[in-house]
Amino acid sequence: MDSCIFCKIVKKEIPSEIVFEDSEILAFKDITPVAPTHILIIPKEHIPSLNNLNQSHKEVVSDILFKIKEIAKDMGIHEQGYRIINNCGKDGGQTVDHLHFHLMAGRQMQWPPG
Ligand code: AMP
Ligand code: ZN
Repeated sequence: MDSCIFCKIVKKEIPSEIVFEDSEILAFKDITPVAPTHILIIPKEHIPSLNNLNQSHKEVVSDILFKIKEIAKDMGIHEQGYRIINNCGKDGGQTVDHLHFHLMAGRQMQWPPG
């Protein structure tokens, strides 16, 4: 999708600090981190939000969760712990309409979140 900032990151049209990439998934550092470690994990395909998932996306979503676990291990945060967030829609606080999961770590997370 031409106007989507995360699609532009996928196409390397704008820079990002990539921490993992394969044919279906990209993980890169959030430009405005809210934790010492703050990574965004996205499908390369433009899927606007969790609301837009269909049966054909089952594999990539499953792969993303599995990859998050591996990234956490590679970054040495898996034992201390981490938080995964998906913001969906206006009330969910979604600001970029390309499905993404936040991986945050390196500080004690609070509950309930804001
Ligand atoms: P959300 O509010 O859940 O839609 O999250 C969007 C996230 O994308 C925010 O945490 C932003 O800081 C992050 N973000 C926006 N533009 C960029 C960019 N060019 N590179 C990396 N992260 C970005
Ligand atoms: Zn996109």
